[in-house]
Amino acid sequence: MNTEEARKILDDCLEKHKSLLEQVSALGFIAQGSINERYLTCSSKNCSCHSDPSKRHGPYVYWTTKVQGKTVSRILKGETAELMRQWVANRIELDSIVEQLRQLSVKALEPSVLLMQQERESTD
Ligand SMILES: [Zn+2]
Repeated sequence: MNTEEARKILDDCLEKHKSLLEQVSALGFIAQGSINERYLTCSSKNCSCHSDPSKRHGPYVYWTTKVQGKTVSRILKGETAELMRQWVANRIELDSIVEQLRQLSVKALEPSVLLMQQERESTD
């Protein structure tokens, strides 16, 4: 890799880095865990939900996360469910952006080192 190539790769990395950080700053609140929906049978013995799976009640929205190493599920209702669905989605996006930043940094290392070395040689 020559200086020109290193500069080009690094500029490209910096541009992508900036764009990813802009995506991070546009993200709203985040939440750990996952959201899933379940259909349940009720406690009423005569209810058709017991004999026909398509008559089960729901969907009920559950948020599952780990609290001090233990998996905990909580039922969410109405607006809380809507917000948490969005916040979990935001966190999944954040995780993906962080992973891209990590890969970008690996790519930026070699050209960064090369350019630093040349900078030092030119000032010696
Ligand atoms: Zn029922």
